[in-house]
Amino acid sequence: MIGDSLTLELVCPRDHTRLEAVSDQEMRCAECGRSYPVHNGIVSVLDAPNAFYEGAYLNQTRFLPKSERIWHAWPLWLLVNGYPWMVRRHVPEGARVVELGCASGVAYFGKRYRMVGCDLSMVSLKGLPYQQRVQCDAGDCIPLPDGAVDAVVSSYFWEHIPPQTKSRILAECRRVLKPGGKIIFLYDVETDNPLIRHYKSVDPALYKRQFIDGDGHYGYERPRDNQSTFEAGGFRIIEHRGLEKTWFQSPAAYVKLRAYEDRLERLFALGSAMGRSPWFYLYTGFMRLLDTAVCPVLPEDWARIELVVCERAAD
Ligand SMILES: [Zn+2]
Repeated sequence: MIGDSLTLELVCPRDHTRLEAVSDQEMRCAECGRSYPVHNGIVSVLDAPNAFYEGAYLNQTRFLPKSERIWHAWPLWLLVNGYPWMVRRHVPEGARVVELGCASGVAYFGKRYRMVGCDLSMVSLKGLPYQQRVQCDAGDCIPLPDGAVDAVVSSYFWEHIPPQTKSRILAECRRVLKPGGKIIFLYDVETDNPLIRHYKSVDPALYKRQFIDGDGHYGYERPRDNQSTFEAGGFRIIEHRGLEKTWFQSPAAYVKLRAYEDRLERLFALGSAMGRSPWFYLYTGFMRLLDTAVCPVLPEDWARIELVVCERAAD
């Protein structure tokens, strides 16, 4: 299976030598002799399972448009803060795309692209509808050959990466991308959003528990600091959008704010309920309109989330 037009050859994280299939259950590096297990087609190059992430995120974006025509495809603009829509706009059909921290993925990407999904969790990868599934730590290595892919994409992955590891991941992205290849990342940022800032100051320890430690968000940084990291890593920023700058937030943020148990708790309970039908599409559509029409005129540091598109700069 590895090596045909749908999938890429994998390389050894230690020495970047191409791995050879020994059997359905094992791949091996001829250079260092290391053996890597394969479970149901999922190749694992992890040294040891990751206790925090294994099985932690099983979410999948299931929506599949009937066709690429705008009246069928538009719900992609609504989902995951517009992330699938942005990828669709910048990456042509049939391209080779890697998703980092993919969890159980975006079904649409599996149809439109030749996908490689990378995640720390074996259970998350089992439900992933991509052509190629690799259990790996992107902070260590993206086990693909040099210049092999058109885009590296991720949603809610980057804020899990400690700042000192970010440049190493960008070096790996640069290595596996073709010249002119893109990265498209959606991630939470360190924020001065008026609502969040208030709760951060009321009880900083509770904020840290709810927004950072609980999800392993050790990579919160200001939008401009993230942008400088991309530039320092050899990328040119094509587009960046600050999202969720107002009091209106994703239901997931209201779930976290309910822990404050203050006079707004009932409002936050209502906000949390917006994540479920029948309200989901209506509320999400309203949020996306705010993100598109209102957020661009508000201060950059009020964004709680950022969506960035970069191009691999020339060597
Ligand atoms: Zn090796």
